[in-house]
Amino acid sequence: MTPPAAKDDCLFCRIVKGEVPADVVHAGETTIAFRDINPQAPTHVLVIPSSHYANIAELAQWEPGAVTELFATAAEVAESEGLGDQYRLVFNTGAEAGQAVFHTHMHVLGGRPLNWPPG
Ligand code: AMP
Ligand code: ZN
Repeated sequence: MTPPAAKDDCLFCRIVKGEVPADVVHAGETTIAFRDINPQAPTHVLVIPSSHYANIAELAQWEPGAVTELFATAAEVAESEGLGDQYRLVFNTGAEAGQAVFHTHMHVLGGRPLNWPPG
């Protein structure tokens, strides 16, 4: 499938295009990773596909290979951030689950003890 066009009104598409600045920690062919502007842990990085899909379910349906890339990038970020094997990966899906930006993104959180259950 041809990747969907970037959406002009999507903040993360604009970060992919370089129109909005971000603290990028990894830039690959199909994924980029950048620091969350409002970090909830000492390490809080967002890993996103460069293609625009609203959430992880849409990405899995249309570009399953990109899902693998997201997780591979998360592992690289965990390594480069020195998180070892102590970190959390989160996809908020839907407003009631806390999703505010409707371009697929994975939160990589670590660097402090993380409680469960989440809020
Ligand atoms: P979510 O609530 O799962 O949709 O996550 C969206 C995340 O994007 C939040 O943690 C925000 O702090 C983060 N965010 C919003 N704007 C920016 C930005 N310009 N650069 C980096 N992170 C951002
Ligand atoms: Zn987008």
